[in-house]
Amino acid sequence: MKTLLWIQGLTCNGNTHSLLNAENPSFYDIFSKIKLLFHPAISSDEDLIKIIKDITQNKISLTFLVVEGSITKNKSFCRVGDFSIAEIIDQLKDKAEFIIAVGNCASFGNIPALYKENTNVVGLQYIFTEKKGLLPPNFKTKSGYPVINISGCPIHPAWFMQTILALYYEKPLILDAFNRPKEIYMYLPHDGCIRNEYFEWKEESEEFGHKEGCLFYNLGCKGPLTHAPCNKILWNRTSSKTRAGMPCLGCTEFNFPLRENYFETKKNIGIPEEVPLGVSKRAYITISGVAKSLRNERVKKKLEETD
Ligand code: SF4
Ligand code: SF4
Repeated sequence: MKTLLWIQGLTCNGNTHSLLNAENPSFYDIFSKIKLLFHPAISSDEDLIKIIKDITQNKISLTFLVVEGSITKNKSFCRVGDFSIAEIIDQLKDKAEFIIAVGNCASFGNIPALYKENTNVVGLQYIFTEKKGLLPPNFKTKSGYPVINISGCPIHPAWFMQTILALYYEKPLILDAFNRPKEIYMYLPHDGCIRNEYFEWKEESEEFGHKEGCLFYNLGCKGPLTHAPCNKILWNRTSSKTRAGMPCLGCTEFNFPLRENYFETKKNIGIPEEVPLGVSKRAYITISGVAKSLRNERVKKKLEETD
């Protein structure tokens, strides 16, 4: 039977909390197929130190090593028995068929890596944009995959379920430039956003929570610049940030916590400093200028009527 060991570095447990909301299958359902060796939040009697020892001595085979949280060598921040989380990963890295980094912290270092006191806090294979995480840039597990990053702060439960079930059924997983499953991260929150018509006609929402208007021009929405299917695979099968009138913060990206202000669009002479992915600034200025000058009266009126 395939096995799964879940370990944590510096984390708020957000991905675990998110996964406990998984439906069809639920987080527990997958453990009818995969033997759970240990998870810090749901295991009670299991002895993690013994399990790790048994894996290193080849008494237990390890299929999935899942890591949540940023990695540190500092035992004062995070330890398992006498070992730092970095040492534990070092012991297990060549034993696992697959290593999955769950969440932005394990993938890219994220918020814990920003504290000046925490030097050497990294992701498994990356530190923000750079491939200078704990494991070498060319590291691959026994299965031939690098660390598979499921980024997000937190991840959507379905992103993890899709990935682990694809691997369980031995389906090939195509990864993007940041080693994230392409099937999930090829989409943007902008795809499927119900505010797209306002984006096209440059009709802007002026306040959070407003049910109409686009959040790109004033309120800092990163939907057109972020790889995540948040308006395709809805949260709780119901909604998303942008549907609720909250800008996308770009939480799946390697540079997620590096922005200064998440709730404001930085502009230069009225033009957003960052334009949608794949569009040159020149093309964006031309197209949005034309849209603004031509105006769609129906769309404008709808926004005004709901003010
Ligand atoms: S609110 Fe954000 S995701 Fe939605 S259309 Fe505007 S820019 Fe795109
Ligand atoms: S909408 Fe943006 S900030 Fe919200 S979960 Fe999706 S990627 Fe993250």
